[in-house]
Amino acid sequence: MEKIAVLIVAAGRGNRAPGDAPKQYRQIAGETVLTKTLKCFAKFPHIMVVIHPDDQDLYEDAVSGLSLNIQTVHGGATRTNSVKAGLNALSAHAPKYVLIHDAARPFLQDRIIQNVIDGLSTHQACVPALPIVDALKTLDGETVDRDSVMRVQTPQGFRFDDIYKAYQDLPKSVNCADDIEIAKRNGHSIKMCEGDESNIKLTYERDFMQKTDTISVTGSGYDVHQICQGTSLWLCGIEIEAGFSLKGHSDADVGLHALTDAILGAIAAGDIGDHFPPTDPKWKGASSDIFLRHAKELVDAQGGNLDHVDVTLICEKPKIKPHREAMRAKIAEILDMPIRRISVKATTTEGLGFTGRAEGIAASAIVSLRIPDAE
Ligand code: MG
Repeated sequence: MEKIAVLIVAAGRGNRAPGDAPKQYRQIAGETVLTKTLKCFAKFPHIMVVIHPDDQDLYEDAVSGLSLNIQTVHGGATRTNSVKAGLNALSAHAPKYVLIHDAARPFLQDRIIQNVIDGLSTHQACVPALPIVDALKTLDGETVDRDSVMRVQTPQGFRFDDIYKAYQDLPKSVNCADDIEIAKRNGHSIKMCEGDESNIKLTYERDFMQKTDTISVTGSGYDVHQICQGTSLWLCGIEIEAGFSLKGHSDADVGLHALTDAILGAIAAGDIGDHFPPTDPKWKGASSDIFLRHAKELVDAQGGNLDHVDVTLICEKPKIKPHREAMRAKIAEILDMPIRRISVKATTTEGLGFTGRAEGIAASAIVSLRIPDAE
């Protein structure tokens, strides 16, 4: 390993998968794509990452939890320029081999890395490749013999001095799709080794959706507040002029409290009282959407996604139905979810118990969400 350097190309803008950040810095299963990719090379002592100058902060975040020996260099305007910059920076270490890998392939297996390294014992360059299953046609409809072509992946391995010189000699105007192309231009011997279908390059939005290992989790919440004198009360984020109020330290929105607890339950993050102690004067009279937003932020921080929300209000009065759509819309807004995934319903207890006697209002909630199953 001492003589094998790793060059990660992470300077691209990734404009085929629009998102808040370049795709190598997007979250997948609770960590960034780049973080995952770097972990694939944890046993290599020399790792050089080519980054875009604008991404310095994103990069710092991505590597903050890693104890790897990583250096960075700023990339150029094209992939070819970026790789050249990386090779120039690595030349100080005088490695014997270099593995050049796209940051957007975070599902790389050790087996593929080993295949590439093995190939370098007999060839100047080695690339993981896969056969093509679909029939291939030219734009004119002519059939292409699929046995004569392969799909290639990264990491692509090279004898360092060979690929370094090939890049130095490359005319400035030339931009290559990958590094094997440059080895080929220079007549290097190239071995194709076995790649793997799972080593995909995250490119389109659907790639991010499909490749996250998530599990479905459910949480339930329940809350009660006592009816007291007043003119109005809050239920599911809506103020209702009911001729009475609910008693509580905050705005006593029993519906949002049950829902907040359900979300906290789904991510095993305690209960609403842990996060917003009723003894803390800061929350006196607080609008309960604060609590719900906080629970949602905790889900977001884990890379989770709320799928569905179901709230049941248990009371004789006020009548919920006239306010139900407004409640759904309010919850949808707070949780940034489509309204079709928000259910609010109501029941009475047929005059029985504290809700039947209109001493209090109860609410229960169930949420389902998907969350990365990360260690
Ligand atoms: Mg409460």
